[in-house]
Amino acid sequence: MDVSSLISLEKSGVRYYDENGREEDLLGILAENGVNYIRVRVWNDPADADGNGYGGGNCDTATAAEIGKRAAKYNLPLLVDFHYSDFWADPAKQKAPKAWEKLPLAEKCVKVREFTLESLGAIKNAGGKVGMVQIGNETNGGIAGVYTWAEMAEIFSAGASAVREFSSDTSVVLHFTNPEKTELMYSLADFLDEKKVDYDVFAVSYYPYWHGSLSNLTKVLGYVAGEYGKHVMVAETSYANTLSDTDGHPNTVAKGSNTSSENILWDFTPQGQADEFRAVLNAVNEVPDGLGLGAFYWEGAWITVGDTTGLSGAAYQKRVDENKRLWEEYGSGWASSYSADFDPDDAGRYCGGSAVDNQAFFDAQGRALPSLKVFRYAITGSEPILMGDVNMDGTVNVSDATEIQKHICGKASISAESFFKADVDGDNFLTVNDATYIQMAVAGVDTAYPVNEFKK
Ligand code: CA
Repeated sequence: MDVSSLISLEKSGVRYYDENGREEDLLGILAENGVNYIRVRVWNDPADADGNGYGGGNCDTATAAEIGKRAAKYNLPLLVDFHYSDFWADPAKQKAPKAWEKLPLAEKCVKVREFTLESLGAIKNAGGKVGMVQIGNETNGGIAGVYTWAEMAEIFSAGASAVREFSSDTSVVLHFTNPEKTELMYSLADFLDEKKVDYDVFAVSYYPYWHGSLSNLTKVLGYVAGEYGKHVMVAETSYANTLSDTDGHPNTVAKGSNTSSENILWDFTPQGQADEFRAVLNAVNEVPDGLGLGAFYWEGAWITVGDTTGLSGAAYQKRVDENKRLWEEYGSGWASSYSADFDPDDAGRYCGGSAVDNQAFFDAQGRALPSLKVFRYAITGSEPILMGDVNMDGTVNVSDATEIQKHICGKASISAESFFKADVDGDNFLTVNDATYIQMAVAGVDTAYPVNEFKK
């Protein structure tokens, strides 16, 4: 899950609660529900000369490092999403950072390499576990202020070389969008091969209102996997669990807006949200040879900084005005007015709050929706699981503890499904403690852990 706006939201007063209403670190709640990877975007310098943040989470390297450090506590690795810009990069915008604006291509490549290495180093030093790195965001027609594929290939290669130097265990991801443009996707993959761009994962965005059918998504990803042996994934998807707004800033998906494509197959309810994500995972999983890695849900926790539900007239306006103050001060909306410094025509003009508060896995009070369970259910199914039954034979005995010990010493590895049953202390790590708690329970010693109990 992408949680890039988390720090700004917390500074604005947002708190998160699990399904039982217990306040917890968002990252802990996500891990508990089976989220197994965190995505964070990085902008080079998302602030004006006076240090006022542009918003959208004010996501710079320090923010990514903070999220990475907390994610590591729950054994969650990071996908670091470099935009190589000072604010949002997407098919319509790929503006160079202010400091690189006037540089020729060769010097930009040097800067891309240096910035990537510095930023990844800072995240690692903070304790973050960088598993994958995106060289650009939705780079169909540009990156860092260059707009030809030939120039883009050089930027990709410069970024990739930095990732290789950083760590041999970290994957290089390229990220495109509009997978409904099937031939364009094929051409991009062919071009990357022709230019010998060094990368591991071909990723696309998939939003069902704009991006074609799921069968076409599988076809596009299958082409890249089949022709070039690359891993593939969905780097962004999301779906509305309601058509209501709760922060006073219009939502992307609302009554009459992005609700009528033939590829919208699900209700705008928490169940529909879970079904959409499950279907996207399935479409990626259908790519042959196990080359489909999975999908990231985009900003699944970007809820309102102040709930407007049920308010009207002056009370509504007062709440929205307070929200505006928080968006400006902490960057918790999609753009602050200060972003006019970098993007006067769009962000500076239409700045405001969250356009996706109805696509989070949390309600307006920060409480986890039942749909959040889709991450674990996609792996284990939705039937209750027998905790401690690591080898999945339907009973818990000492051989289950042995499976964990074999996993720890590298003699066997535990599947994703077994993992949920093996992690009996619920810390998201498999350690000798889990094996011990199972052995103790088998020997009739009462532990505080749910060994031999069914967990929903
Ligand atoms: Ca909104």
